[in-house]
This record gives sequence, structure tokens and C-alpha cells, in this order.
Amino acid sequence: MLQSTNNLKTPKMEVVAIQLDYDKLGFKAGVEIHQELLTSRKLFCFCKPVLKTDEPQFLVKRFFRPVLGEMGKYDEAMLVEYEKGRTIVYEVYDDVNCTYEIDETCM
Ligand SMILES: [Zn+2]
Repeated sequence: MLQSTNNLKTPKMEVVAIQLDYDKLGFKAGVEIHQELLTSRKLFCFCKPVLKTDEPQFLVKRFFRPVLGEMGKYDEAMLVEYEKGRTIVYEVYDDVNCTYEIDETCM
């Protein structure tokens, strides 16, 4: 049991150690960290980095679709999402979004 060493009211927690064989379980985990930067434009285009909350002009629904990576292999996480039939919906605003953000820009 953990207890606070100061006078602040800290909720008491009970820590239980469980020995698990993650390889045997086939457990895999990853961490993805996002950080919002204070910039005047977005990283890959010139749209303003504004978070809007009003009604979007339109929605873009994307299906996860596996494609071969540079190393000639499929992204395993993408394959799992594809098999689940996952989709993601983007809210699009004419004044702060462009075709680059929905992968519709040809280079
Ligand atoms: Zn843009």
C-alpha cells in the first residue's frame, strides 16, 4: 500500500504485482506521443493551425486500407484495423484545411 509522505490528501492506492509472460501472451504495446506546436502554419501545408468547434463544411470518412511500406511489408497495426473494418471521420473546414490533409494532393 502506498501512502503520502506529506499532509496533502492523497488517495490511497494498493499496488498488486502480477508476473505475466508477455511473450507467451503475445502482448504488444506501443506509445505514440502527440505535441501541439505553436506555429503559424501546419507542418506539411500552409493552412493555419486552428482548432474549430463549429459545424464543418463536410466530413471525410476514411477506411483503413493496408499498403506496402518502403521496406516491402505491410504495417501490422494497419492490417489489424483493416480487418476490424475501422474508419475514421475527419471534419473539414474550407478556411483551415486543404486536400493535403485528406491525402488527396498529387505531388
Ligand atoms: Zn492544409
